[in-house]
Amino acid sequence: MPITCKVIRSKRKTLSLQVHRDGSIVVRAPIFTLSFQIRSFVKKMQSWIEKQQKSFAKMPQITTRSFQNGAKFLVLGEEYPLELSSPIPGKRPSVRFENAFRIATSSVKQGKELLEKWYRQEARRIFTQRLEYYSKRHNLTYKVLKLSSAKTRWGSCSRQKNINLNWRLIMAPLDIIDYVIAHELSHTMHMNHSKRFWVQVEEMVPSHKMHKKWLKDFGRSLHI
Ligand SMILES: [Zn+2]
Repeated sequence: MPITCKVIRSKRKTLSLQVHRDGSIVVRAPIFTLSFQIRSFVKKMQSWIEKQQKSFAKMPQITTRSFQNGAKFLVLGEEYPLELSSPIPGKRPSVRFENAFRIATSSVKQGKELLEKWYRQEARRIFTQRLEYYSKRHNLTYKVLKLSSAKTRWGSCSRQKNINLNWRLIMAPLDIIDYVIAHELSHTMHMNHSKRFWVQVEEMVPSHKMHKKWLKDFGRSLHI
């Protein structure tokens, strides 16, 4: 990966280094630092830089999505383009999905609401299937599934065994959805995060630790 490295000098005492999401590097340095000192500092940090760049490269980008032709939207971890089409007279504004999201140019203003409606329907469909699968397989029962839209909370489970899942999760890969479902279903047995709770989660989704970390790192990119 070609590296662009920007140096910002200021009245500071130490060198610091930052890797941006596009892979570029910013070094902050005291005013009189010599360029060879900066080079050797960057060299010393090389393996850390590469690790950062790699993790950014895998990450879905956090962008403000615009409703323009070609804008990308996530479904189950894959990106699909938006295709604006000419409006069909008499047809109510809607989203059609077939390897791309299709919205009439006349409905772009409502694009966000229309897309959220589509995502919620899809979320209910997929989440219900996965909940059924895991609850039958592991003999765990729940009452109802509700979709929530909290900014950072992915799921919860009440004492009455109602499961809430964030509709934005439908943008994440299925493995991640399965982890959250296993997590909430395990709460129907253990209303805490005890050792026994995690044993139950592990039995359902052995790679849960990885998925938990994925949500922490990339969860913010699951938005429209
Ligand atoms: Zn929990």
